[in-house]
Amino acid sequence: MTANKTLLLLPGDGIGPEVMAQARRVLDWVQSSGRASFQIFEDHAGGAAIDAYGVPVTDATVAKAKEVDAVLFGSVGGPKWDSVPFEIRPEAGLLRLRSELQVFANLRPAKVFDALVESSSLKPELVRGLDIMIVRECIGGIYFGEPRGIETLPDGSQRGINTEVYTTHEIQRVGRVAFELARKRQNRVCSVEKANVMESGLLWRQVMTALQAAEFPDVALSHMYADNCAMQLAKNPRQFDVIVTGNLFGDILSDLAAMLTGSLGLLPSATLGARDANGRLPGFYEPIHGSAPDIAGQAKANPMAQILSLALLLRYSFDMEEDAAAIEAAVERVLAKAGRTPDIAAPGRAVITTAEMGDALIAELAAIK
Ligand code: NAD
Repeated sequence: MTANKTLLLLPGDGIGPEVMAQARRVLDWVQSSGRASFQIFEDHAGGAAIDAYGVPVTDATVAKAKEVDAVLFGSVGGPKWDSVPFEIRPEAGLLRLRSELQVFANLRPAKVFDALVESSSLKPELVRGLDIMIVRECIGGIYFGEPRGIETLPDGSQRGINTEVYTTHEIQRVGRVAFELARKRQNRVCSVEKANVMESGLLWRQVMTALQAAEFPDVALSHMYADNCAMQLAKNPRQFDVIVTGNLFGDILSDLAAMLTGSLGLLPSATLGARDANGRLPGFYEPIHGSAPDIAGQAKANPMAQILSLALLLRYSFDMEEDAAAIEAAVERVLAKAGRTPDIAAPGRAVITTAEMGDALIAELAAIK
């Protein structure tokens, strides 16, 4: 069978290559089913690329990332590269890839697996069955707005400046991603800003309201101030389906939602761009966690966040919903009955290695093929 999808794997540093190796096994499972075939490219990113090429991502890797159908990224960074110049630090490679691919909508699902309901910081009855999707605008807003900087005032004191700025176009494009996602879920979008104190928030609210009326009348839209949203996430998180918000509020609220699920090693993310004239959707997929240098090389890393990132890739970039759902269900079954890596170890259950967790998952997948 000729490859019908192209894929670039960038495992990165630390535990990145360890967890990516397990995701690769899942790709092999998908291919062995005959439902798709992949042409897989692999390259260095982050510290590994600094070691190999002197920069955290090369022009050739960026070009390949733009050419393929989707990119699956591991994680980058670590103490080995702490003293490299700021412009070529490992994370700069990640930021360059995201900005060159023009991926602007960061999707962070926060789902509580039944088997891990006790690991949440909230009471089990508040989080059982929790399944939220946070859509964060990630290449605009206050992290990129001009003017910015630190200036010295005439009296010698200093002033730090950042600017929250959003245009109609930027709000509409991330809004569309949220509404379209909601259609495949519970059909509800909660748009979050601070329209009570910020003009950019007021515009955000007006644009979202107009967008819903014009293009998504079938999806329920509500609005919430960001501070209230933080309270509601801690108080009654199951009230939400899709939350859409700007860069700054999304950064904070998605971390809060992530912690409701109890484990960094289980959280995937997707970052999507706009579909082009040929229907191509830029997609960049990575776990939330970093390179975990404290456990790298010890076979302790939980591979599930990387594997769930692959499931998102299959769903959003390759339209392979059935395979994505099968992988998610298999992860759930492994968590319910197999041993676990140390980060989510449970009393009375075996503590297993990264590869053994991969074995358990592949066994579950093989059973349903
Ligand atoms: P981290 O996410 O790497 O680790 C935080 C803690 O969670 C550690 O104790 C780690 O052992 C644990 N952990 C993380 N992922 C795990 C997994 N899959 N299984 C089991 N345990 C896991 O964050 P950090 O320690 O703040 O950062 C370490 C390095 O990673 C730094 O260089 C940082 O800059 C980088 N980083 C990279 C990314 C990225 O590539 N997107 C994101 C965050 C941090």
